[in-house]
Amino acid sequence: MEILLAENAGFCFGVEKAVDAVYAQLADQSAGTVFTYGEIVHNEAVTKDLAAKGVKTAESAKDIRGALEEAKNGGGAENACVVIRAHGVGAAVYDTLKEQQLRVVDATCPFVRRIHETVRKAGEAGETVIVVGDHDHPEVQGIVGWAKGPIAVVSSPEEAAALDFPRGSNLTIVSQTTFRRHKFKETVEVFSGKEYNVNIVDTICSATSVRQEEAERIASEADVMIVVGGAHSSNTRKLYEICKGKCSATYLVQHAGDLNTQMFEGAARVGITAGASTPKNIIQEVQTYVRTRSEL
Ligand code: SF4
Repeated sequence: MEILLAENAGFCFGVEKAVDAVYAQLADQSAGTVFTYGEIVHNEAVTKDLAAKGVKTAESAKDIRGALEEAKNGGGAENACVVIRAHGVGAAVYDTLKEQQLRVVDATCPFVRRIHETVRKAGEAGETVIVVGDHDHPEVQGIVGWAKGPIAVVSSPEEAAALDFPRGSNLTIVSQTTFRRHKFKETVEVFSGKEYNVNIVDTICSATSVRQEEAERIASEADVMIVVGGAHSSNTRKLYEICKGKCSATYLVQHAGDLNTQMFEGAARVGITAGASTPKNIIQEVQTYVRTRSEL
């Protein structure tokens, strides 16, 4: 059995930087309790490891306030910090954290930070901002939180078609970094066909498109395709959909423990890729499992 392992599998630059930032705080003797604003990465193995080391996940400013009170009683409140994950957060979150005099370790991916800046500046210039992305995705909610004027989120050409602005409106269009490029183009075309002044800023991260294109190519050559990643990771689910489109025997697994020998029956070539939130050791375990079975 031949293994086709994607070169662009696992943590992207932004996620790696954010996870490293949390471990760096844990290693810093002078740091108090470490909080992350939302799960630092959609991967159970990593979040469990961090939780075991005392990292707390906060979903809101209220959570942090409550957890801080606890920390005061139990120690660790001094020099406590909040790590902002790669997805980033809206401007109001920074304000709240500042009000609470919390030390912020900002691990927002620089590519996401650039979108925040684009949105802020467009709003200040009086333009309407359109974000092409998934409404519920935390990155999109963070982007919306930098709006200084009208802003709308659309996830499909149909949703874009339902929007109506006065003729001659100035629109700045950005994308969620992990959105699929062809869907972004289709959605943007809806606005280009109307009488607006449209400024399209393609903010799709190349780490995502490179990973997706490679996965698609490998899946089209493989008999069985394994996508490794968290069930709640949107980029992992997108990878799965892409691979499934090319290889019907595509499986989404969180770790090697989800694999079984029946999956590989009769397969000559097995492809392996992984979402941006999958650590290297988990990919290696999956690869070892497949290699061991292929040698039996
Ligand atoms: S996918 Fe790209 S934009 Fe998103 S965190 Fe990773 S490197 Fe940054």
